[in-house]
This record gives sequence, structure tokens and C-alpha cells, in this order.
Amino acid sequence: MKTELGGARVELPAIGGPLPGPKARAIIERDGKAVSPSYTRSYPLVAKRGDGAIVEDVDGNRFLDFSAGIAVVSTGHCHPRVVEAIQRQAAELIHMSGTDFFYENMVTLAEKLAALAPGGGERRVFFGNSGAEAVEAAIKLARYHTGRDQFIAFTGAFHGRTMGALSFTGSKPVQRRGFGPLVPGVHHIPYAYCYRCVYGKEPETCAVECAKVIEEQLLKTILPAEDTAAIVLEPVQGEGGYIVPPRKFFDELRRIADRFGMLLVFDEVQSGMGRTGKMWAAEHFGAVPDILAVAKGIASGMPLGATVASADIMRWPPGAHASTFGGNPVSVAAALVTIELLEQELIANAARVGEHMMNRLRGWPGKYRVVGDVRGLGLMIGIEFVNDRETRERNPEARDRLVQRCFERGVLVLGAGPNSVRLSPPLTLTRDQADFAMDTIEEALGD
Ligand code: PLP
Repeated sequence: MKTELGGARVELPAIGGPLPGPKARAIIERDGKAVSPSYTRSYPLVAKRGDGAIVEDVDGNRFLDFSAGIAVVSTGHCHPRVVEAIQRQAAELIHMSGTDFFYENMVTLAEKLAALAPGGGERRVFFGNSGAEAVEAAIKLARYHTGRDQFIAFTGAFHGRTMGALSFTGSKPVQRRGFGPLVPGVHHIPYAYCYRCVYGKEPETCAVECAKVIEEQLLKTILPAEDTAAIVLEPVQGEGGYIVPPRKFFDELRRIADRFGMLLVFDEVQSGMGRTGKMWAAEHFGAVPDILAVAKGIASGMPLGATVASADIMRWPPGAHASTFGGNPVSVAAALVTIELLEQELIANAARVGEHMMNRLRGWPGKYRVVGDVRGLGLMIGIEFVNDRETRERNPEARDRLVQRCFERGVLVLGAGPNSVRLSPPLTLTRDQADFAMDTIEEALGD
């Protein structure tokens, strides 16, 4: 089956034999002897080529990609317009370094991001190469601007693995174990999450309870407010389990930030660039950050990160922060086309197909014993696995088995958090592909 969406070809999967096939097996064996064992591979996919939401492996098996390279290929794999922009730019200029010289397209992209970022007013944009670098820039900027060195962050958060970003990451012990001491002054508290609310309250009130933890515990015991530079959070937690907090969470955090002169830093590395059916997840909550970190989906697979702040906040002198490759012309060319495609139709498509999926997925907690919760915005959807819906006891084994079964049936999904599956397909996804994936997951659940 083949249809067209925004110029990207779309199809459904086809598995030719047992997985991994012989070529994949040989490459995985070599990988084990040459590549860092720190990577987390959930199943033996050896990717050869991609086209829209389809990835073909080295043995010719075709998979429907519900991971999008961990929420990166927003316009699908190798969108013809992105490929054309990359090829054209690579033939003209690959690198000169935007930190020492000027590129017109870097200015154009900065203007575009400045206009798109939530809120208004004059903005400035810093370019790096990754999500971690976007977060590093955000936290350095928060320190520099406020002259304060303490931060509030959240358990379950993932902000990257460089030493600064890692100090804010609070998702899994393995990510931090053996790497201390980390950057001091980061205080993690639980995220407001109604389904598994550690604040022990009804939906929405968990936001108020979380605010109380900050104002009545943290700030009255170990954390002087006047030393606190920023509250750093993902508006929808990604690696932590695709967790959507209540709107009130944002109102409370903004109130606290304004009351004590702290900044609000939103890490939209995973939730941004149209993934949730709006350009930024923050828009769903009417929330506006002081500093915004962006990466992943921004350039359809080319490495690029961006940190956006008001001109008043991003006021640091030449040499204070820079990156040799950041804002690379080829990545920037890919980003400009990506944003055009997102605005033309892909964000609307993510909202439409995401709603279509949620209409079906919403019924799963009542239908399958092991499905505790389904939540999400647009095409950022999490399914949480439990032993028992009443006790909500986590069931990571069921999650892991489901991820494997989906792979064997030709659908690529990834885990998130201790016991959830994340669905983050390219934003080109069609209803047919969404239906195929949901049928596949239901078959696997039936097993
Ligand atoms: N922030 C968030 C919310 C992320 O999901 C990630 C990566 O998964 C990062 C930061 C780090 O991005 P990168 O792996 O590009 O450094």
C-alpha cells in the first residue's frame, strides 16, 4: 500500500524471515567488538535505509517506525525536500563555523525560531548540535543571567548525558552511577503526574502539592530562594515515560518563578517541533518559558540544537559560550525545510492522527489487564504496563515483551520510563499506518 503525504512516500511493513537476518547478525557481532557497550539497543534492528515512516534493514525487512529515531525524523525518513536541501547546501558550503563567521541561513533560522517560540518580544538564539548542548546552554545562561547557582529539577527527567545536563537528568540510576560528583546545586523533586501521583491527591491538586513542596519544604529548608536560578522541566516528560502533567502545574511553577525571581526553563528537546500536535508542548498549557531548549525533530535527523531566550536574558559577551559546529549550514538547511513542512501540514497531521489513535487507545486500560494508563498529546503517546490496575504495580517485563513482539511483527517501538512504551512516529504518519501499528500492538497484547 502506498499513498502520499507532503511528498513523502508511505507504506506498511513486511518481514521476510526470522530476525535478525544473516546480514544483521554479522553486523551486530562486529558492533559488539568495536562499539561502546553503553548504548541501549532494545532489539536487533540494523537500519539500511528509510523512507517516510518505513525503515528497511540490511536483510530487506521493512519496519513501520514508531520511534522516528527517538522522536527525531519529524518529516519522516529522508523526506525528498529535506534530502534536496541537504544535498544543495552540502555542494555549496558544509562548514565555516558560525561562531567566528556569519551565515545567512543561521540568521534566518534564528529569526524563525525567535518568532515561533512561545511568548513574544525580542529573542536571541544560540545554536549547538544536540539536545544536551541545548540544555547546557540553557543552564549556563540561567546561571549567568541570574547570578545564582541553584536549580530545581524533577525526578523522571531526562535532559542529556553531558556532565551539566546529566546533573539535571533524574530518570534512571544507570545514567548517573559512577559519574559523580555531578554539577552541584540541582534539587530534584517529583513531577506532577496525576496517574501515579506521589503527592497522593486527585488530578490537578498534585500541581498544588508540588508547589507546596517547593515553597514550604525546599525553599524553607535547604534551598535559599535568592540563590535559585531556575526551575528546569520537560513540559511533557519523554524518557521518563511520556508523562503529561496537569495545566495547573505550569501556572504554579510560573507563579513561584515570578515570586522569587527564578527563570523557567523548558526542555522541549523531545516534545517540541510539532510532536504534540502543536509546535511546542507548552502551548497546550498556555505556558511560556524564559529559556527554551530545542533539538531532535528540528532538522529531520541532522544534528542541531537551539536555545532560545529573550534578548534581555541572552545578554552575554563574545566568548562566553560558543560551539564550533553549532548551527552547521547543512543542519540549518534541513531545519528550514523541516519547519516549513511542519507548518504547512505535518503539525496538523500529528494532531489529527494522534487524536485518531487516542480515540482507540483510550479504551485499552479497561480492555487489557496489563495496560494501566494511556496518555499523550499528538504523536507523543505513552502506554504504561502494570500487573494490576488497582494496585498499579509496575510491570516492566510485560512492557519489554511487548516491545520485542512488535519488532518481530515489523513495528518499531521503544520503552520509556520504568514500565511504559513510547509511541513517537514521524509526523507524516497516515491513519492506515496508525491502524496497522495499533492492530499489531493489540495482537502482541493478546499474546
Ligand atoms: N532533553 C530531552 C527532553 C531529551 O529527550 C533528550 C534526549 O533524549 C535530551 C535532552 C538529550 O538530547 P541528546 O541526546 O541530543 O543530547
